[in-house]
Amino acid sequence: MFGRRRWAPLAPAVLATIAKANQLIASNHADQAAPMLAQLAQDLEGRGRARPAANLHAEAAHAYAASRNESAALAQARAALNQFLQLQMARRVPTFYGNITRKLRANGMSAAADTLQKEFGDKVKPFEKFRSASPAQGRRLPANCPHCGAAARSDEVDWIDGQSAECAYCGGVIQTK
Ligand SMILES: [Zn+2]
Repeated sequence: MFGRRRWAPLAPAVLATIAKANQLIASNHADQAAPMLAQLAQDLEGRGRARPAANLHAEAAHAYAASRNESAALAQARAALNQFLQLQMARRVPTFYGNITRKLRANGMSAAADTLQKEFGDKVKPFEKFRSASPAQGRRLPANCPHCGAAARSDEVDWIDGQSAECAYCGGVIQTK
């Protein structure tokens, strides 16, 4: 079911927590989901699961940005970007950087966006050329990841080929339809 995964699947309890956080986000409770995701990121980091941890820091940053908690959003975005850079996640670096700075500005948190730009702008630039590939013509992602329930946004997933993408949050493979 996971197909060409690039890391071992997450434990069922971890996936359940991610799914619960995503339900909260979908029902406008990003403020409750954000600390769950941040905590989970920290736990996974402690267990050496660097890549999913980095992705969860990114999702926590989005959830804090959605609930207008500027300092927490900035802290989580920093953690995500530092880890994406360290792990050389070439497509995630420019994709997440672009999305989170845009979201911070859209939600009135320009100071945090400016800070990220100052700290990471130059480091992100060399990765711009790796910005995510795109789906084959006529193929679309389902609205949510079938493994963890996260919104499957075309510009946030990691495209494997024209028909399938890797969920940015749980690493499961999402097939287009
Ligand atoms: Zn997923």
